[in-house]
Amino acid sequence: MPLSSPASLGVEEERYRRRTPASERCYIEARRYLPGGDSRSPLFYSPYPAVMDRGEGCRLFDLDGNELIDFTGNHSALALGYGHPHVLGAVERQLERGTCFPGPTEPQVRLARMLVERIGSVERVRFTSSGTEAAANVIRAARAFTGRPKVAKVEGGYHGTSDDALVSTHPTGPDAGERSRPRSQPSALGLAPRTLENVVVIPFNDGAAAARVIEAEHHRLAAVLVEPVLGSAGMIPAERGYLETLREVTRRLGVLLIFDEVVSFRVAYGGGEEHFGVVPDLTILGKLIGGGFPLGAFGGRQDVMALFDPSAGRPGIPHPGSLNANPISLAAGIATLELLTRDAIETINRRGESLRGRMRGAFAEAGVAAEITGLGSLFGIHLTGHPVRDFRDTLDVDTALRHRIFLGLHNEGVLIDPRGVGTISTALGETELERFIEALRAVLARVGDRTPIR
Ligand code: PLP
Repeated sequence: MPLSSPASLGVEEERYRRRTPASERCYIEARRYLPGGDSRSPLFYSPYPAVMDRGEGCRLFDLDGNELIDFTGNHSALALGYGHPHVLGAVERQLERGTCFPGPTEPQVRLARMLVERIGSVERVRFTSSGTEAAANVIRAARAFTGRPKVAKVEGGYHGTSDDALVSTHPTGPDAGERSRPRSQPSALGLAPRTLENVVVIPFNDGAAAARVIEAEHHRLAAVLVEPVLGSAGMIPAERGYLETLREVTRRLGVLLIFDEVVSFRVAYGGGEEHFGVVPDLTILGKLIGGGFPLGAFGGRQDVMALFDPSAGRPGIPHPGSLNANPISLAAGIATLELLTRDAIETINRRGESLRGRMRGAFAEAGVAAEITGLGSLFGIHLTGHPVRDFRDTLDVDTALRHRIFLGLHNEGVLIDPRGVGTISTALGETELERFIEALRAVLARVGDRTPIR
């Protein structure tokens, strides 16, 4: 029987169920009102997700009072951990002044200035309420600026939930086409007609193959979207030369290059573009720039961003949004970036590097095949015996074993994303990293153990 058979999964699940009866009750109730009991589909895991009660620093507490050391940072949205006093103070001060206004605010200028000063390529920026909206606006801007209808995205890349973005996020089977020339696959039912025609898919970490697709399509191609670290697919960093090739070919052919830095912004003070030394035309931001509150942003070249300027008449692209640039989110974002200094980033990056190394050691000692990916404070665990360089390399991972390890870590008081990825916040210190590795060792030691729990 394979190690990850349902019988062996049962050991962790039984423990999990015993620890989380209040979560189970809440989840059963939630399903009466919400499809699947929640409003974020990737957060579901079997048998039911632990219901969150509160967070303090690097610790989360579920409804049953279980304490979890958090290695998700709400999926990279919280770079400083939960309830950081500097962020809370800024939010409280803004709450007293007002939560939303029918006019621009001074905090908007401050956060815009911070982003323009940090990110070399960003000359102008606009705020939204989510990364999804930022990506949708940037795609529209690229089409408007170039007058071309198509955009290219990376296979396995995630840019939120607009129709254009929901193409080939998790393609499988023969319909996905050749690895070097992927075919566009719908990632949701109900996409607008012709979406697949207008979204071209390129491979990740194969610059030559990606360039061939871009060259073949360029007369009708407005932009190429890429995450410098492929996040949802498992924190897979771009390899040397890949982003450079995309930059060269797009510049040569008049196609805009868009970096989605919603996740990768944290890898360096000036984001992934600073780390990789490649300058895009436009950038999508989200998650941590809102300090735990809803906020997205898009920005880049002034000539492209001028499409959103209403000061000289009706803008080329209208960009309303009742809660755009919400001042509470701006206050939390400013406070977060104030503390996410070059030194702070260096520290979490060092911890990320150290954790990835120790994870490799723990898997090797246990004799469990695993590939650990990541960059800076981002990590991905892939239960496979070969290198992971793109989305297709993740297709044969042992998902049952991954789930068992996820539940096992949960039982040991450590939380990662159910898909095996995680992030390091500034609230996590050496002690917590060591706890992670101890927990992982304990879980791996239980792999294959099918003794019923007493
Ligand atoms: N882009 C990337 C790389 C993301 O990881 C995400 C969210 O996970 C988004 C865009 C969408 O952001 P949001 O969830 O704020 O809509």
